[in-house]
Amino acid sequence: MTVEDKFLLYALEKVESGETLSFEEGIRLYRTQDLLGLGHVADKYATKLHQGRVYFVVNRHINPTNYCVNRCKFCAFSKSKGEKGGYEYTLREIEEKARRAVEDGAREFHVVSGLHPDWDFGHYVEIVKKLKDKFPHVHVKAYTAVEIEHFSKISGLSIEEVLNKLKEAGLDSMPGGGAEILNDRVRSQLCPEKTSWKRWLEIHKTAHRLGIKSNCTMLFGHVESIEDRIDHLLKLRELQEETGGFQAFIPLPFHPQNTNVNVNFTTGVDMLKTIAVSRLILNNVPHIKAYWVMLGEGIAQVALNFGATDMEGTVYEEKITHAAGASSPQGLSKKRLIKLIKDAGKIPVERDALYNVVKVHA
Ligand code: SF4
Repeated sequence: MTVEDKFLLYALEKVESGETLSFEEGIRLYRTQDLLGLGHVADKYATKLHQGRVYFVVNRHINPTNYCVNRCKFCAFSKSKGEKGGYEYTLREIEEKARRAVEDGAREFHVVSGLHPDWDFGHYVEIVKKLKDKFPHVHVKAYTAVEIEHFSKISGLSIEEVLNKLKEAGLDSMPGGGAEILNDRVRSQLCPEKTSWKRWLEIHKTAHRLGIKSNCTMLFGHVESIEDRIDHLLKLRELQEETGGFQAFIPLPFHPQNTNVNVNFTTGVDMLKTIAVSRLILNNVPHIKAYWVMLGEGIAQVALNFGATDMEGTVYEEKITHAAGASSPQGLSKKRLIKLIKDAGKIPVERDALYNVVKVHA
């Protein structure tokens, strides 16, 4: 057995026995040359947690507007008012998009928006209310911590008051976007106007206290270092230790096209390592998600043998990553997701937004 084999085995035994990996151990995992060995131990841990099951949901992404008062350097989605390509949906248009997805069996709406220069908080509340009133059986997962902070600023309400009002309107859970990399140096380079990393964590902590589950993410492959990534994962693990409110962690490879960040798209090895390392470091987060929209179908499928146990969902119409040049489809059929999971040697499980089993496609 090589020294590297011994280390990977030691890391697996450590997480399997409920111990956490340190910062230095996380760095060492990332630096390993043994990609398949790393994938194997992450897959072993994922299998211990979920017995070979991989989850997906029939869902619909809805992005009510791409007008945004923030213009983060890495964002290809946002537009200024009057700029070509800008749009804002009416409540009727949102309802229609939702209706078509419900007719196709959607159980979850994933709503993420730009920070519109003119919409007040009441309008964002109305979007949630409209979806919940018209489709009461569909789970509404809406608004990142960045949007929640914006609502607090424009309404003068506290974060808790904003979340309570959205909850009353029908909000069921929150997505995990806007985390990017949780440190000041990277944020000052990429998105200085954006919610600070401390505030991002505070908002999720408040949501969890109010009984609102959420996800967490990491945007990687831009100006950050491996050390920044591990530090980011440890911050998420610490909050999860306190609240237990994260359902899934979603590593998001940065797509540079049409952005103001001059880097190349990251590599397949980097994406697979990130999936595997996050599975081992975030031992207390139930699922690592292979977000096929950003990873691409192929890498997302391979990631199911590197520790990922969730494939997000049908999505229907993805706009944010496609504005940055993603070549994946805008949506996938349920049939396609089941095939991708089965061909990876895993058991496809259709779930609802809270991971209750809808159907095991054995
Ligand atoms: S990443 Fe979000 S906050 Fe930043 S510009 Fe894009 S839409 Fe706006």
